Amino acid sequence: MISQDGPRDHCGVFGVFGHHDAAKLTYFGLYALQHRGQESAGIVASDGKKVVEHKGMGLVPDVFTEDHLERLKGHLAIGHVRYSTTGSSLLSNAQPFTVHHGGRTISVGHNGNLINAHTLRTRLENEGSIFQASSDTEIIVHLIAKNLWLGFEEAVAKALGLVKGAYSLIMMTEDTLIAARDPKGFRPLCLGTLNGGWVVASETCALDLIEAEYVRDVEPGEILFINAQGVKSVKPWATTRSAFCIFEYIYFARPDSNIYGHNVYAIRKRQGAALAKEHPLEADVVMPFPDSGNYAALGYCQALGVPLDLGMIRNHYVGRTFIQPSQSMRDFGVRVKLNPVRALLKDKRVLVIEDSIIRGTTARTRIKAIRDAGAKEVHMLVSCPPHRYPCFYGIDFSSRGELIACDNTVEAIQEFIGLDSLAYLSLDGLISSTRVEKEWFCLACFDGNYLEGPIEGFSKTCME
Ligand code: SF4
Repeated sequence: MISQDGPRDHCGVFGVFGHHDAAKLTYFGLYALQHRGQESAGIVASDGKKVVEHKGMGLVPDVFTEDHLERLKGHLAIGHVRYSTTGSSLLSNAQPFTVHHGGRTISVGHNGNLINAHTLRTRLENEGSIFQASSDTEIIVHLIAKNLWLGFEEAVAKALGLVKGAYSLIMMTEDTLIAARDPKGFRPLCLGTLNGGWVVASETCALDLIEAEYVRDVEPGEILFINAQGVKSVKPWATTRSAFCIFEYIYFARPDSNIYGHNVYAIRKRQGAALAKEHPLEADVVMPFPDSGNYAALGYCQALGVPLDLGMIRNHYVGRTFIQPSQSMRDFGVRVKLNPVRALLKDKRVLVIEDSIIRGTTARTRIKAIRDAGAKEVHMLVSCPPHRYPCFYGIDFSSRGELIACDNTVEAIQEFIGLDSLAYLSLDGLISSTRVEKEWFCLACFDGNYLEGPIEGFSKTCME
C-alpha cells in the first residue's frame, strides 16, 4: 500500500429523492465525494416499495458496474463512501446499514463518530439487540427500531437524542429520505434541488457534478424528512453553540466546495496569506507538497509577490496498491508518488508549504528527498497550528500517540523531520483566514477544548 500522506478522511454521504435515476445520480455523487473515504462504498435504492442495495470494498468505480446500477431501481437512493474511524475496514462495516423491522426497511449512512457508542451498544446488547458489525452507525438503526412504536419521525428524533458526538446522517425508508446533523454541526451536510427532486450531500462539489442547485446547508440539530409530501424540517433540540470542524476548511473538504457559503479554496489561500504575514521568509524556491499544500502556497506567494514553484511532481496514475520492488528500496512508496525536480532544487534555499503535520513521518521522508535532490537549506511553514490533542469526532487521530505535536516542541519536530526551520500559523491567524467567528468552530485538536463530551471509552476498535 502507498503510505498515507496525512490524516485519513472520514466518510461521505449522498442522497436523492424524486429522480427516476436516483441510484445513478448517487453513484456520481459518491464519485465526487471519494476524497472523504476510499475503503468501501454502498448505495441503497427504493422504488417506493422494494429496497435494493449493493456495497463493496474499494473505490466507487471498482464497487459498482452498469449492471449493479441497473438493478438499483427507483426514485429514492442514498449512498456512502467510508474510511473507518470506528470499526475495522471490513465489508460487514460498509454502509449504508439496512435493517428490516416491523414491516419497514431503514437504511443509514453516517459521517462522524458517536462518542457514547460503547455505552449505548452495551446497553442495547444487554436488552437483546444483536449487532452485525463493529461500527457505531448500527447503533442508530437499533435505536430507531426500538422506538418505532412512537411513530417514525418521533423514533428518529428519540434515537438521535440518545446518541452523542458527531453525525451528518443520510437515511431512508421505502418512501422517505432523511437527512440529519448533530446539534453542534461537526460535519458538513447540504441540501440541493434537481429537476423538482431533492439532493443531500456532504459537500457542494457533489451537487456541482450532477448539476443540482445548492439550496442551503442543513442546520446543526436539524432533521429533514423528504418525501412525496415535500420537505419537512424538524429541530427537536434547543440551540447550542455550534462546533463545526475547522479541519474541514484546512484539509478535508474539497477546495471547490462551499460550506455555509464560504469557499474552501479561498479560505486555504487566505491561510497562506496569513502565514506570509506571520512568517515572511526569504527563499530561492517556494513550493507546496502537492496537492495538500497547493492552495496555502499560492496564497503565501501572492501575498509576498514571489513566484510559486512546483518542486515535487506527483504521479497521477499511481493506484492504491502496486507491486513492491524485489530489492529493498528505501522510501519507495513515497518516491513512486512524489518525485523532486532536481534541476530546480539543487543548491537552493527551499521553503516548503504544507497544510498540516500529523504524524510527521511522511513529511520527514519528503524533506529527505528534497535534501537528496541537492537543496542547500530546507524550511517549512504549516498553514495551521500544531495538532496537540486527539480528535474524537470522526478524524483518525484519536490517540495522543498518533500526533507528533502532542509531546514534542516545534524545535523537536523540526529536528525529527530534518528541517533548517519550521513554523506554524497561529490559531488567531487561522481563524481570521476563515472570516468566521471563533465560537462557530471546534478547535479541540489545537486547543484541547472538547465541546462535546464526556468521551465514553472511545477507540477506533472499541466495539470489536
Ligand atoms: S478535534 Fe480537530 S479534527 Fe476533530 S472535529 Fe475538532 S477541529 Fe475537527
